[in-house]
Amino acid sequence: MDIQKNLKEVLSQLPPHVRLVAVSKFHPNEAVEAAYAAGQRIFGESKEQELSRKQAALPKDIEWHFIGHLQTNKVKYIAPYIAMIDAVDSYKLLAEINRQAEKCGRVIPCLLEIHIAEEDTKYGFTFESCRQMLREGRWRELDHVVISGVMGMATNTDNEDEIRREFRSLHTFFTELKDTFFSDSEAFREISMGMSHDYPLAVGEGSTMVRVGSRIFGERGY
Ligand SMILES: *Cc1c(COP(=O)(O)O)cnc(C)c1O
Repeated sequence: MDIQKNLKEVLSQLPPHVRLVAVSKFHPNEAVEAAYAAGQRIFGESKEQELSRKQAALPKDIEWHFIGHLQTNKVKYIAPYIAMIDAVDSYKLLAEINRQAEKCGRVIPCLLEIHIAEEDTKYGFTFESCRQMLREGRWRELDHVVISGVMGMATNTDNEDEIRREFRSLHTFFTELKDTFFSDSEAFREISMGMSHDYPLAVGEGSTMVRVGSRIFGERGY
């Protein structure tokens, strides 16, 4: 596995305004170090314990993103250092992130996870539940989180039209939220979409941040 070569190939396919979250979950510290040595600074993890172990051992200028489903009782462990929480899927979680960020004297950037795929999953806001949460307005009182955009995952399929349609729906929804709730917010600007098998399509549909794992680090041995 030539991590540095893979990383360069992926980066060469991204326009300069699209940032890469290198998803290192289930891969050892050495894999992160190889990508770090090639200049990569943003890494994504989806398990709190694995992330906290890596964060303690690895260089402190790494920007860690939490990309998986985050349980509210785990927020306190990552609040002191996390650079962005990419998959906020309830008001309750947002409020807990705010509470823990306040304790550390931080403001934590968060993305709202939107369910765009055909597949059933327990996670993510629907378009309507997200609108409702934002209309309700309590999030405006949370001074220690900043809602920085949306995140979504397309259906795991070979049907490129379907993947494109789903990514387009997230971009359209981002624009709606921007116009309706975030027209004053410079921070609300991220559309996190695209993984190893579909990031070129996501970039074509306006992604600002791709989350790529196996294409860089190889298959994960679960
Ligand atoms: C694992 C994961 C990724 C990366 O997946 P790859 O297919 O390995 O690129 C991206 N986003 C989320 C939310 C993930 O859990």
